[in-house]
Amino acid sequence: MNKLVVMKFGGTSVEDAVAINRTAGIVRGRIEKGLTPIVVVSAMAKVTDQLLAAAAAAGRGDRSGALAITARLRSRHKETATVLLVSEEVKQQTQTVVDHTQIAPPELATLLISIDAEFDGLDEVLRGLAAVGELTPRISDMIVSMGERLSSRMIAEAFSQRGLNGVHVDARKCIITDNQHGKAIPDDAMIEARLKEHVLPHASEGRTVVMGGFIGSYVAPNAVADDKIITTTLGRGGSDFTAALVGGGIDAGAIEIWTDVNGIMTTDPRIVPEALRVKTISFEEAAELAYFGAKVLHPATILPAVKKNIPVLVLNSRNPENEGTRIISLAPHCQSPFKSIAAKRKLTIIDVVASRMLMSHGYLKAIFDVFDKHKCAVDMVSTSEVSVSLTVDSNEKLPDIAADLSKLADVKYEGRKALICLVGENIRGQNGISARVFNAIKHVNVRMISQGASEINMSFMIEEDDVEEAIRSLHAEFFASPDPEIFDVEAVKAAR
Ligand code: ADP
Ligand code: ASP
Ligand code: MG
Repeated sequence: MNKLVVMKFGGTSVEDAVAINRTAGIVRGRIEKGLTPIVVVSAMAKVTDQLLAAAAAAGRGDRSGALAITARLRSRHKETATVLLVSEEVKQQTQTVVDHTQIAPPELATLLISIDAEFDGLDEVLRGLAAVGELTPRISDMIVSMGERLSSRMIAEAFSQRGLNGVHVDARKCIITDNQHGKAIPDDAMIEARLKEHVLPHASEGRTVVMGGFIGSYVAPNAVADDKIITTTLGRGGSDFTAALVGGGIDAGAIEIWTDVNGIMTTDPRIVPEALRVKTISFEEAAELAYFGAKVLHPATILPAVKKNIPVLVLNSRNPENEGTRIISLAPHCQSPFKSIAAKRKLTIIDVVASRMLMSHGYLKAIFDVFDKHKCAVDMVSTSEVSVSLTVDSNEKLPDIAADLSKLADVKYEGRKALICLVGENIRGQNGISARVFNAIKHVNVRMISQGASEINMSFMIEEDDVEEAIRSLHAEFFASPDPEIFDVEAVKAAR
C-alpha cells in the first residue's frame, strides 16, 4: 500500500462548495504524489454551533426557534450537495438549483433523500425535546453529531464524482469511546482494531476514505446490534483529535491539519495580524500551546502522534503552497526566548483561605479531593501558608464546589479571568526573562503567576478584558527580531 497520510479539514475548509472543491484539489495533489489519504472532515463552518443552538432552544421549550434553525441547515446542506454534484454541463443547461436537480446524477438524488431523512429525524427529536423540555448530554451528542455525519457523506460523494474514488466510512464505527458525553475518552485499542476492519481495506484498494471528525460511539456492554450504538463526541474542536487517533491507529506517515491560517503562529493572528508562522515546533511545545488556548489545535491532538512519533503538519487550505508548521519530537534550537503566546479564557479563580489550617498537613489533599469529587480539572495553583488560589474552567459545578470547599475554609470565587501562556524552550535557564515579561505588561494587573512547573511554559492570570492588550504588548516585546530559522520572516518582508 502507498504511504498513508491522514488529512483533516476544519469547518472553514469545507464551509461551502467552493471550499470543498479546493479540498478535493488538495487531496488529489497528495494522491498524485503517490500517497494514500484518509480524510477526516469537520462539519461545515458554524454548523456545530447552530445544531447546539437548536438543541438548546428545544430544551427550553422553544419548538419553533429550534425548527427554524434546522430548516436553514437543511437547505444549506441540500444546496451545497446540489452545487457540488451537478456537473458543469448540467448547470449550463439549466437555470436554477431546482431545475438542475431534475437531470442530476442519481447519486445526488440519493444524497438529497438521505439529507431530508436525517433532518426529518432531527426535527422529530427536537419536537419531542421541546415537549419534554429536558436536554440530556446523550441527546445533545446525537443532535450535534449530525454536522460531521452530513459533511462527510457529502464530501465522499463529491470526491467520487471528481475521480478521487471517495468512500464514506461512518466514524462512529471506528472511534470507540467511553460514555462521557460531550468529552468522551477514546479507547485506543478498540479504535486500532476497528480502523483495520473498516478503513484499511478501502485504503489498500486505492479508495479515499472520508470520515467525520469529532464523533464517536459508545458500545453498551450488552449491545448486540448496531442500533445499540450510542453516539458520543470528543469535545469542541475534536476533529483534530479524530485525525490524530486515526493517524496513530493506522501508523500513518503524517497527520495533516488543514485550517484557515498558515500554521501555528506566534500568537492568534486575530489578535495580532502581523503574527509570524512558526516553521517547526516540538510536540511538547505544541501540546502546551493547545492546552493553554491556541485554538488552532485541539489539546488532545498531540498525544497519539507522540506515541507513534508521527509528524503533525498544520497547513492552510486557502494557501496550500505554504509549507505550514511542522510539529516533530525534537525541534531545532531557537534563538528567540519564546515560540508562541496563547490565551485561555473563561476561567474562574478560587481563593481558599483557612487560618485554622495553618501548618496542618493534609490541607491541600482535602482541597483537591473536592475538585476530584466534582471531576473538575485545575489549571494553576498558588499557595501560601494559609491560603490557596486555584484556577479552573468556568463551569456550572462551581457553586457545588464552593459549597464543599466552604466546609474546609473560607471560599471566594471570581469569573472572567484568563491565563496567558508563553511557550519556548528552556525558559527556566534564561536569566531575566520574567523581568522582560512583566515589564512588557506592567500596565496590566496580574493575579497569579506560574513559572518553573514546566521548562517550556510560563503563565500568568489576568482579567479577561486585558487579554488582547497583554498579548499585543508581549508580542511586540518578544517578536521584534525573530529567529529566521524558526519563524517565517520572509512573509513579513514580502508584506512590507
Ligand atoms: P478549524 O475549523 O480548521 O479547526 P479553528 O478555528 O479551530 O479551525 O482554528 C484555527 C484558528 O485558530 C485560526 O483562525 C486562529 O484565529 C486561531 N488561533 C489561535 N491561536 C493561534 C495560533 N497560535 N496560531 C494560529 N492560529 C491560532
Ligand atoms: N465541528 C466540531 C466543532 O465545531 C469539531 C471540529 O470542528 O473540530 O467543535
Ligand atoms: Mg479546530
